[in-house]
Amino acid sequence: MSKAITPIKGMPDIVPEQMPYWHLAERRIKRVLEAYGYDELRTPMLEKTALFKRSIGDETDIVSKEMFTFESRGGDSLSLRPEATASCVRAGITRGLLHNQRRRIYYYGPMFRYEQPQEGRYRQFYQIGAEAYGLAGPDVDAEMLLMLARIWRELELPGLVLKINCLGVSLGRERYVETLRDYFRGHLAALDEDSVRRLDTNPLRILDSKVESLQGLINQAPPMQDFLSDDEQAYFAAILARCDDANIAYDVDPRLVRGLDYYTGMVFEWQTDQLGAQNAVCGGGRYDQLVKQLGGRDTPAVGWAMGMERLIALLGLGDATIPPAEARVYFVTVGEAAARAGTLLLEKVRDALPSVRMVAHGGTGSFKSQLRAADKSGAEYALILGDAEVEQRQVAVKPLRRAGGEQELVAWNDLEQHMIALLGEINTQ
Ligand code: ATP
Ligand code: MG
Repeated sequence: MSKAITPIKGMPDIVPEQMPYWHLAERRIKRVLEAYGYDELRTPMLEKTALFKRSIGDETDIVSKEMFTFESRGGDSLSLRPEATASCVRAGITRGLLHNQRRRIYYYGPMFRYEQPQEGRYRQFYQIGAEAYGLAGPDVDAEMLLMLARIWRELELPGLVLKINCLGVSLGRERYVETLRDYFRGHLAALDEDSVRRLDTNPLRILDSKVESLQGLINQAPPMQDFLSDDEQAYFAAILARCDDANIAYDVDPRLVRGLDYYTGMVFEWQTDQLGAQNAVCGGGRYDQLVKQLGGRDTPAVGWAMGMERLIALLGLGDATIPPAEARVYFVTVGEAAARAGTLLLEKVRDALPSVRMVAHGGTGSFKSQLRAADKSGAEYALILGDAEVEQRQVAVKPLRRAGGEQELVAWNDLEQHMIALLGEINTQ
């Protein structure tokens, strides 16, 4: 036997046993998003590298170290998307989705970052996210937070803590950046190489450093709040007031800046203490300048992205046990004539009960071994067809669970009605 080809580091397979959790989460999250008026947008996984450089920022970890970038045959620099906001804005501009109108958009799919793989941190991971365009704050900022709180409720996920901050724009931000630069310069010896470089390029980024030895210094750094304009203060207070009204607890973290440069107003993260080091489940914020920066019209915007793997890990820790999908009908045929007639017969039953899971044994095997497989499958009924049944145009319906009654012989013509009577209460969820 030749050696199996191993998967790429940090790129997990999501095996069928895990999928019920994914499906549950996907279904409930999309239901909430659609109920709030968000429509799905699907963008390609590959974009021109320049898109991410211009939006996420050259000095961010994502762009400076984490992108899967390569040259196309035509000589363009392309990158696998590390996030989807830039693509949404690009699509919004180039497809005319944002022309003079409000747009609520959501997306779902894999993202790629060249990170050190560990529990909860992968090189391919899924994000679901939402973006609102053309709506200035603070109502829509609050809408995002309320919508997320609803998603946690729908998924019965307790214990998520909302960290929130407000970043200023223009003058206040410039003054803050200068203040930070002076502050960190005063502690030059304590800084790591990345932070020393960022002193010149983008001191705000130092606040987002994950270097352990810097955390004390970061926690003592001057807070942004002191540099916000009156309007910005009022905008932030209005968001917090709406959270208070809706009973959403939050923790103002004056040094939260997040890992992308495009944020300009509210920034937030929902964190958990149940997943070890990977504590962020969802993050986002307002980015009013990005659409213009990427060549569109001035369009206010706010959005967030949620990491599905971390969310699923949390779901798995909770009480939700989701039984794997089981077949309700198991189809057994013995002999060539029965196999042939059975194919069509089963199709007819499928026509009558299109959402009921029915599994054909397929292939060969003795009657006994097939029945054993039927029992093991967890199905409620076995449909059994052998030469004798074919001759009489009948099929044996055998209940596989104790409470299911006696085995019956049913005429082919009556089989659909019979199965509807047995399985009719279909759970279409
Ligand atoms: P972190 O601080 O954990 O690196 P981040 O600030 O880089 O997160 P965002 O870019 O805002 O995260 O992405 C939003 C969410 O996507 C995160 O809160 C997290 O749940 C998830 N996420 C980000 N990077 C990864 C990854 N490499 N593997 C799995 N999930 C991820
Ligand atoms: Mg990160």
